[in-house]
Formats: sequence, C-alpha cells, structure tokens
Amino acid sequence: NKATGKNEPNSVPTSPILVSETATFTEPRPRRSKSATPDRESSGSLSMDPKKEDILKSVQGVDRSACEQILNEILVTDEKVYWDDIAGLRNAKNSLKEAVVYPFLRPDLFKGLREPIRGMLLFGPPGTGKTMIAKAVATESNSTFFSVSASSLLSKYLGESEKLIRALFYMAKKLSPSIIFIDEIDSMLTARSDNENESSRRIKTELLIQWSSLSNATAQAEDQTNMLDSRVLVLGATNLPWAIDDAARRRFSRRLYIPLPDYETRLYHLKRLMAKQKNNLEDLDYELITKLTDGFSGSDLTSLAKEAAMEPIRDLGDKLMFADFDKIRGIEIKDFQNSLVTIKKSVSPESLQEYEDWSNKFGSTG
Ligand code: ADP
Repeated sequence: NKATGKNEPNSVPTSPILVSETATFTEPRPRRSKSATPDRESSGSLSMDPKKEDILKSVQGVDRSACEQILNEILVTDEKVYWDDIAGLRNAKNSLKEAVVYPFLRPDLFKGLREPIRGMLLFGPPGTGKTMIAKAVATESNSTFFSVSASSLLSKYLGESEKLIRALFYMAKKLSPSIIFIDEIDSMLTARSDNENESSRRIKTELLIQWSSLSNATAQAEDQTNMLDSRVLVLGATNLPWAIDDAARRRFSRRLYIPLPDYETRLYHLKRLMAKQKNNLEDLDYELITKLTDGFSGSDLTSLAKEAAMEPIRDLGDKLMFADFDKIRGIEIKDFQNSLVTIKKSVSPESLQEYEDWSNKFGSTG
C-alpha cells in the first residue's frame, strides 16, 4: 500500500489524510458537482479525490459505501494542533507522548512489552481541551485522525451504525497509524439498562468487537508490515466518565483526567490569546484577570477574551463602517471587567468534586 508507505521498510509511514474536526455524521451530503467552487464547509466532501478513490478501490470485506462515508464525512482539513497550542496539561501531554506519539513514530522500538496501548480515555469537565489534545496527538504522531461524535453516530445513523463502525476500524487499520477519536464516548458505553434499545446495544457490541480486533492484530503481527497495520488507538473523550460501564472502562488502559486550568495555565492561555490582538494590558492586568477567572475552563477563558475583544468595536458604534483598522483602540482591562459580567464559569464546584472523586478511584496517574 503506497499511501501508507509500507513499501519502504525503513521509513516511518505517515498518514495520507489528517482529519481535524469532529465529524458529526449529519445527513449524508449530496455529492458536489465538479464545477462547484470549493468552500470551507464542504472541503471534507469534495468530489472524490484520486487518493480516496484509490483507497476505496482496494477495500475488501467491508461495505464500500460505508468506507466512502467514513472518508467523506469526516472533515479532511489542513488544520493542525501542536502541543504548544494547548495551555497546561503537562502530565496528559507527557503521558500521550509516551503511550502514543513515540510508539507511533518509532514502532521498531515499541514492540512486545512496549507495544502501544489500544485505548485511552480523556475525561473531565467540558471545554478543558480534550478535543484539542486528540488533534495534537494526531498531528504530532503523523497519524490519520478519525473523529466521530458518539451521540450523532447513535442518533443519525442508527440503522447504519454497525456498518459504519466496521468501516471506521477497517479504514483506520488501512490508513494506520491512526487515531480514532470518539467524543462523548459514554453514550456508547453506558451500563446496560432496561430501557436500552436493541440497536444501541448492538452498536456497543460492535464497537467492543472491533476494538478487540486491534489487540488481535498485534498478537498476530509476525512481520513489520502487520505490526505497522496495528498502530490504531481508540481515544475516547467524556464529560461523564461515571456513565461508562465497568467492563468498557477497563478497556481503556489509561484514563487521563483533563482538569480545569490552574493559575499558571490560565495566565499562559490568556497571554497566548492576546498575543495576536492589539492590547494595552500590563503584567498586573493579566494577573488580575487570571485571579478573577478561577474555576473557568479553557473554553470559558476563550469566550471571555472574545467578548473583551468586541468592546473596542462596540465603542465605535455606526462609525465602525468607516473605521481604519489601525485606529481601533487596543483591548484594555476594563473590557475584561465588562465581559466578566456576562461570561461566567460553566463548571459548578459540585461537579468538579465528582470528577476528582472518579479520578481518585479510576484515573491513571500521569
Ligand atoms: P473539550 O473537548 O474538553 O470539551 P475542547 O478541546 O473542544 O474541549 O476546547 C474547546 C475550546 O476551548 C478550544 O477550541 C480552545 O479554544 C479552548 N481551550 C480549551 N482548553 C484549552 C487549552 N488547554 N489550551 C488552549 N485552548 C483551550
């Protein structure tokens, strides 16, 4: 398979496709005509590019249209996330480097006892960077990134979900090294309940079967080629880790807590956000904002900074239409103070305690 570079035994194959946003598996998009102008929204479903066509031609043993759906409906973009884009989370980054990035880049060193793990769970409050981390792992390990949201898989494609899951794992192996990122994974792995319907139970079973097939692939890997095939990691993210049933939880060899940002992380994040914006903020201002945002998630902080950045524009009123970009005033501390009136922290102290408790019980250290 040329696309994965397997013909060159000494090179570390890189993935031909990087998918960087959570595919939502919304309604199937109509195939665009060749004459249509490409736009950002549809960039993931451009009429079949030759590489994709080649890949699909060699599909065997799984539903080809499901494979096509996998290739088309996950957004293929050039957007990449690097470790430095993510504020804080040093432990999680180190853990992922050791468990995934290095093994994917140097498969020759990571075999036998050192073989890469098959499942990792990122859990914690919403907006703390779990999706960003998953994207960074894919970027930094040169992996193909399949990103699906479990809830949309369950709701929109109920009848087709099993087929899609099979196709997803098949494509992940085919285009390995791969990361299968499943957001809201709890909704696919909940403990069995009486009101669980038949199809969601079947989807869960299929996911577990396919997941096991990854470990078997490693066990059967006798030569370098097969071993490379097996470089696939299921990276799950959840805000509700306690909803995952015991057996499924154990499948994640590592369970990483992605907490709210601490003081240093918030300061770093704020400075990074403001670095690209004209502003009059002094060190003391940054410190004040950082203190006032205790309990904010990374995404709350981003919203706050966006809101503050709107203030100089609002000041202009109707003059905005004729304003010279260079003359627009810089963002000031008062803009942040105003934004703090509307943008509040989104995670309650009570739910934080729940995450801490679950982490103490089931989380991995480091
Ligand atoms: P989650 O998956 O944990 O819900 P995301 O990774 O989707 O959170 O983060 C949502 C947004 O919040 C990101 O796009 C980014 O703007 C911001 N953000 C959250 N955490 C961080 C972080 N640690 N560093 C930088 N930006 C962050």
